[in-house]
Amino acid sequence: MNRTDVPPAPPRRAPRPTAETPRERSFAGIPVSPGIAIGPVFGTSEAKVEIVRFKIHAADIAAEGARLESAIAQSRKQLGKLRGRLSVLPEESQAEIAPMIDAYIRMLGPSRLIRGVKRRIEETLLSAEHAVATEADAIANTILATAETGQSAEDRAGLRRQADEIREIGRRLVRNLTHAPFRSFTGLPDGAILFAESLRPADAALLDPSRLAGVATEEGGTDGHTAVMLRALGVPAVLGAAGVAHAVKPGDVVVVDGSAGTVVLNPTPATLASARRAVTAFARERQRYARLRRLPAETEDGHTVELQANLELPIELPLIAQSGAVGIGLLRTEFLFMNRETVPDEDTQTETYRSVIEAMNGDPVTIRVLDWGGEKDIEALSLAGLVPDYVDANPALGMRGIRLLLRRPELFETQLAAILRAAAVGPVRILLPMVTTVGEVRQAREIYERVARRVRRRGERLPERLPPLGIMIETPGAALSADALALEADFFAIGTNDLTAYTLAVDRGESDVAELYDPMHPAVLRLIQFATEAALRMRKPVSVCGEMGGNPALIPLLIGLGLRSFSMNASAVPRVKQVVRAVEIDVCTRFARRVMEQSDPQAIREMVAGFGKAG
Ligand code: PEP
Ligand code: MG
Repeated sequence: MNRTDVPPAPPRRAPRPTAETPRERSFAGIPVSPGIAIGPVFGTSEAKVEIVRFKIHAADIAAEGARLESAIAQSRKQLGKLRGRLSVLPEESQAEIAPMIDAYIRMLGPSRLIRGVKRRIEETLLSAEHAVATEADAIANTILATAETGQSAEDRAGLRRQADEIREIGRRLVRNLTHAPFRSFTGLPDGAILFAESLRPADAALLDPSRLAGVATEEGGTDGHTAVMLRALGVPAVLGAAGVAHAVKPGDVVVVDGSAGTVVLNPTPATLASARRAVTAFARERQRYARLRRLPAETEDGHTVELQANLELPIELPLIAQSGAVGIGLLRTEFLFMNRETVPDEDTQTETYRSVIEAMNGDPVTIRVLDWGGEKDIEALSLAGLVPDYVDANPALGMRGIRLLLRRPELFETQLAAILRAAAVGPVRILLPMVTTVGEVRQAREIYERVARRVRRRGERLPERLPPLGIMIETPGAALSADALALEADFFAIGTNDLTAYTLAVDRGESDVAELYDPMHPAVLRLIQFATEAALRMRKPVSVCGEMGGNPALIPLLIGLGLRSFSMNASAVPRVKQVVRAVEIDVCTRFARRVMEQSDPQAIREMVAGFGKAG
């Protein structure tokens, strides 16, 4: 429940704030893990580490390297112990948190971070702790700079999480190098709410969700590892609430609303009563969603709708398993190429695709080949000289997606070969990004078939029938040529994010024109309708994999336009399924017909908001 829904306390019974009854205070932060917690404050802080920035003598390089190695070994041991402790958590939480701890442990191996630290010690004669702090900062800042230009919110979130990982390992190494104590949670009373200036992901992994009611911090954001951990643990949490940790005293009663992002200190009786009602309502909603996971995505009148998940980073696989999604409708492969200095070779790519396909246990996986371009900069591609070294005046209109792949067949062929080899372990489809012409699909198919022949000649086991080759419909040009493209492509995935941007000439990340970015604009809807009908006429599968597909309010309209397949952020699946199960196809079709008669986006918004109420 949102704080603004809280009814005011009846004047008769509201105590006047006195020295004994302190005034209610509200803090706004970032809602990172839903749920409402009511409980006493438990404050924790961690002593800051002072890094003495000294230089070493050249003769001491080996000794400094040995100090680093011993801190690495100690960190690895601590993380191994932490991983062992996860067994007390519910299975689902374990499945989400264990891969993150594994990623930390891997980073202590021959990673970019450790290589960089060693280089700094040798070349610049920095002390090990100074080298770790500097290198971790440098890598994290580079990743964050890339994140700023990330195309989708998911890309940006993934990169911010990677920056978090690097900083986390950096901090742990520095603590071990300087023998600084780690935070301890001993003495945390049952049902308490943890308050801290900041909380590290590994701290979050140490928390016992059966004893902890909630978390509030002054630093941190939605996409960081700490947030992911807290969500995995199911602990209501608000991060980034400025001033909150300093405003509370141990034992104060607070309400943390992890759905609305608020922290209320010294709640009035009315606020408390309302928070208790919200706790009950939230528990009921959780149960409903958990039940939904096992129920089919079927409309009220018995039509099956396919609900799949979008995947940006393998770390999201456990979330997908929990969501009830049946397969991956869009695997964005950019993550494979990011934060590394070299382009991943065929074997590396094959392994990654294989592990994703295997994790989906026979459910289909649609792998989109590299969508480089726009503002998305991938260092490894620049270093390998595979992408233009000039800056386009209009990157969104330049060398993007399939355009680059056709220009750089070696890049395309390696990826296709890897996907084909991985396809031996489960059902796969291949998706081409940013297609605008029929010729691009024909050219791509020629390359695809040539690669398949070559891989077969090498003796690799490939599926008898090659995986379908489909295209993103994400430009007005593609949508309006959908009838011709449907003759060439095996399936369509409608990318409503770019489609909206290109149709309305609005940059996806430009805040000044953000209010013009409107997927409910009739022009966007007409293009979706045209492309969908073209696909259906040609009996080609068509899905929506942009953000519209995960918006429950838009599902009746999209079903009414003929769509029966949606791919979305895993967390949206239960809410979308709930809508699917409540609608009838005929009602949706009539509704879509009425919507498509509108010319004003505002009228469409009102109709969409009123669906179900108006009938
Ligand atoms: C889209 O454009 O809608 C889409 C799904 O692709 P991306 O967000 O990766 O550009
Ligand atoms: Mg796109």
